[in-house]
Amino acid sequence: MAVIAADTQMDGSRLKHAVMALSGGMDSASLLVHLLDEGYEVTCLSFDYGQQHVLELDCAEELVSYLHKMGQSVVHQKIDLSSAMSLFQSDLLQKGGDVPEGHYEEDSMKSTVVPNRNAVFASLLYGTALSISAKRDTDAMVALGVHSGDHAIYPDCRPEFYDALGQAFALGNWGSERIAFHLPYVRLDKAGILLDAEPRLTRLGLHFDEFYRRTLTTYDPTPDGMSYGKTGSDIERILAFHAVGREDPFAYIGGWQAALRHAQSQDKKQRSNDLQNRLTAIQFHVTQESGTERAFTGEFWDTDEAGDYLCICCDKLLFESQMKFGSGCGWPSFHSEVPTARIHRIIDQSHGMQRTEVRCSTCDAHLGHVFDDGPRAHGGERYCINSASMTFVSKGERES
Ligand SMILES: [Zn+2]
Repeated sequence: MAVIAADTQMDGSRLKHAVMALSGGMDSASLLVHLLDEGYEVTCLSFDYGQQHVLELDCAEELVSYLHKMGQSVVHQKIDLSSAMSLFQSDLLQKGGDVPEGHYEEDSMKSTVVPNRNAVFASLLYGTALSISAKRDTDAMVALGVHSGDHAIYPDCRPEFYDALGQAFALGNWGSERIAFHLPYVRLDKAGILLDAEPRLTRLGLHFDEFYRRTLTTYDPTPDGMSYGKTGSDIERILAFHAVGREDPFAYIGGWQAALRHAQSQDKKQRSNDLQNRLTAIQFHVTQESGTERAFTGEFWDTDEAGDYLCICCDKLLFESQMKFGSGCGWPSFHSEVPTARIHRIIDQSHGMQRTEVRCSTCDAHLGHVFDDGPRAHGGERYCINSASMTFVSKGERES
């Protein structure tokens, strides 16, 4: 009888080992599926660090038992750090303040940062990976579910932090050449994580809704594990499910539709604040309040440089310079739009006139109007666009 070494599979290939933190939230649950689908043997650590939303650990447990029931093998261990981190100050912890409501990119969310949390977690994950590596004479990976949406508020989720941490850990340990960090989501947002998980769940024979129903993202759950849908982490999750065309199977007080409406209104408010900070007064007035700049005053009414015109708010390509013509009306005029722009047209009956308003199809910024007095050779239309709605990239800039 052939003896199979502990780390050799039936087909002779070596097992790949990964160690990760399973919080019970959506990102780490997705990461687990990502690793299982890539053929890793996964060891998950779940940390009790005195978090207000300690119910997430029950979710982690429930999730692992669902995976076991579905024939997946996962090593899972709960680690109690509540005493070690009992002197830490953060609104995310049980003795902290109230978890703030609002958008996940708001500055107030900084009160939910737990000091040095990810360094503590990474340190334990790294030690576990080193131990697996030594015990089983194998390479091991520390996998982390950090993603681009975390970077603004949580500095310890940024890739440069993990680069530096990896270097420090490598310097301080024997055998570190066999350990690597793996951050598969570092350039993805939360919707990207769901899109990554969808086909993997199917390949593993898991059910999307059954899986994500067992993941808790809210920082402020009800005692029986439902969500009000009001914290920043809720908003981000709800918008991600909506962006991939799904309803979140998690239980929201008031139901999914109400949670979605609230998340969308928070998002709109946040975008408006961002734009107010970034745009000039006239750019904001034109794009967000359907204003019109005075004729012959805009930046582009009389220009003919070769290049592209993009939406000032979201950078969507709208027009190319060869579509521009001198109409003499005092605003930049184009006879056609770039086909991929798919500019929205809306009947506008303001000011006692019937006109066709045009808006960006990606971000809904007001651009101007379209009239039927354009050059016949190009279809007879004239897009009369505010310079304030656009940014220009010259051909030279684009090619460099
Ligand atoms: Zn736009």
